[in-house]
Amino acid sequence: RERARLAASTGPGRTADGHPVKLLHNIGSAADLRPGAEGVGLFRTEFLFLDRRQPPSHEEQVAAYARVFAGAGTVTVRTLDAGTDKPLPFLGLPAEPNPALGVRGLRVDRVLPGVLDAQLDAIAEAARATGADVRVMAPMVTTAREAADFARRARARGIERAGVMVEVPAAALQADELLAEVDFLSIGTNDLAQYTFAADRQHPGLSDLLDPAQPALLRLVGMCAEAGRRAGKAVGVCGEAAGDPAVAPLLVGLGVSSLSMAPVCVPVVREALAALTLRECRERALAPLG
Ligand code: PEP
Ligand code: MG
Repeated sequence: RERARLAASTGPGRTADGHPVKLLHNIGSAADLRPGAEGVGLFRTEFLFLDRRQPPSHEEQVAAYARVFAGAGTVTVRTLDAGTDKPLPFLGLPAEPNPALGVRGLRVDRVLPGVLDAQLDAIAEAARATGADVRVMAPMVTTAREAADFARRARARGIERAGVMVEVPAAALQADELLAEVDFLSIGTNDLAQYTFAADRQHPGLSDLLDPAQPALLRLVGMCAEAGRRAGKAVGVCGEAAGDPAVAPLLVGLGVSSLSMAPVCVPVVREALAALTLRECRERALAPLG
């Protein structure tokens, strides 16, 4: 086992008994790219849209995406995740009494449909120009109909692999229905914890309620992973829990196939996985579920 641990200090992620787990990077721009990644599991695209009165032009978007695609090889791009809780002046969205429950993530498309279509156009063009393996995923998806509509619009532009984030309990509860429409799920544990425990993720006094190792959240992760197994489709985690060496083994034990995290977290997560067999990961995950 000690040998397995040393061998695992670089290279792909594996449990002590050799079960592979993709360890991917979360980035916000090409400046965050680091060598040695198995790929980018979450490219947050908000950076390009911040602090502006006008949306970035098509050319500007293509150039920014192409820089990331050329440097990363395999990239999962998350389409714009904004709303009144992550405000962008050019969207001009009216203030809302409950921003976290309002028009955010994919829901912005209901009121400003051109933004998502323009972004998908630019992603498709940058993917063609670089030849990279590019997938797209939508944030804050709640229904299978939203998932189907997103996937249709991505595929119509030649982006073959489209997925959705699981950030809302309703999405986890309908993981089978979502996977009937899309190619993969990526669990955003930051928001999934916020909405599962009804606790603001920014609230400093509620961090104990947001702990992702609680049975309710683990159960939702397990439901998604099982749906992935049934459908033969990938289910990963890209929230902060994926980069926590105490939680990552539980997620793997529940059956997720990739973990996407800040690049700086990869070594400790790789080491935590290399210290446990898949069976031990599973036992640890299932123990709190009773
Ligand atoms: C998440 O919610 O877990 C996630 C990865 O998205 P963000 O942190 O950007 O909301
Ligand atoms: Mg989120």
